[in-house]
Amino acid sequence: MTDPIPAPALGEPYLLTPGPLTTSCPVKQAMLRDWGSWDGDFRAMTQDMRDRLLAMLGNGANDFDCVPMQGSGTFSVEAMLGSFIPKDGKVLVLANGAYGLRSAQTLAYLGRDYVLLDKGDYLPPRGGEVARILADDPAITHVVAIHCETSSGILNPVEEISRATYAAGRKLLIDSMSAFGAIPLEVSQIRFEALVSSANKCIEGVPGFGFVIARKSELEAAKGNSHSLSLDIHAQWAHMNKTGQWRFTPPTHVLAAFLEALRSHEAEGGVAARGGRYANNRDVMVTGMRELGFETLLKDRWLSPIIVTFFCPASPAFDFDRFYGLMKGKGFIIYPGKLTVAESFRIGCIGQLDSNVMRQVVAAAAESLSELGVYSAAPPESALIERAKLAA
Ligand SMILES: *Cc1c(COP(=O)(O)O)cnc(C)c1O
Repeated sequence: MTDPIPAPALGEPYLLTPGPLTTSCPVKQAMLRDWGSWDGDFRAMTQDMRDRLLAMLGNGANDFDCVPMQGSGTFSVEAMLGSFIPKDGKVLVLANGAYGLRSAQTLAYLGRDYVLLDKGDYLPPRGGEVARILADDPAITHVVAIHCETSSGILNPVEEISRATYAAGRKLLIDSMSAFGAIPLEVSQIRFEALVSSANKCIEGVPGFGFVIARKSELEAAKGNSHSLSLDIHAQWAHMNKTGQWRFTPPTHVLAAFLEALRSHEAEGGVAARGGRYANNRDVMVTGMRELGFETLLKDRWLSPIIVTFFCPASPAFDFDRFYGLMKGKGFIIYPGKLTVAESFRIGCIGQLDSNVMRQVVAAAAESLSELGVYSAAPPESALIERAKLAA
């Protein structure tokens, strides 16, 4: 086992949210100096970061390249969609939550033709469904999938989605924002053309940029596709490969922090160890919360090690805003729910958290419930009936 994770600075709460998240002291300290964006030292840092991210793809990574992009994760999603989908392309968007719907909305802004498979709040899009839709619509050129749909915490079956996509001769783009770095996405196992993630999720950096990892042949072919000067992945890639620099002002401090986070990621044991710690966080937290009577939205099979959705208790004494405030008072920032079917809230498992912290989270939840006068955390019957529809 690794050493226990040190607590954040005195008075700073733990963020049980899926990015921004609780970062380590060395990551924060890496931001205490200034870097010239043009300088060779900073260019070397950019290259180091790109190499380290590519190495996570495993065997076959040589066919891919990594292009960082300024902005929050959504900027990189928009950059990926606008750069790799030609203007006459057509996309099948697989949605089961807010991030899938956001990709569809982005395509609408970009004027790219798309069809939406909307599975609602939490049902996974399955390979068979993808195969049927692709067989019925030969105009579809690309499939967009969300790896971990952070709005419910479901881990979508990207492997079977990938198989169905390529069996039909189409191309896959993956929003792996909240999964990359903790859930394996090796190119020898799962075929795709491009993925997108950001600095402030499973690598545990601070917010400020995202990155696209794409097949070099797709990067070449992306020239001229983009609607946007600043979000043109091909242009950023070509400029970076030629000069070692970002096209426009880079988030220098964020990159310095991210490199530190990448070193810690490697020291911890890479993707497998990071994912293992998060899964352990989830297991300890879910077990404890279930003992209090809470129920998860998802069955164990679909529970990601990233974030978990719980139904709010049926008790009339429960009030989420007050529960949130009590949890915050004990040092834990939790996350409101994003479901349309039932009242819910979420607890993230990523960031500088370990099982010790997760036990404290459960203890804080127990105390907060009793302060509210809630004696059972059991959800309403209607929520459980809804959940029973998740047959798979
Ligand atoms: C965090 C996240 C994004 C990007 O969100 P931003 O707020 O723009 O950083 C996109 N997709 C998924 C699945 C995410 O978890």
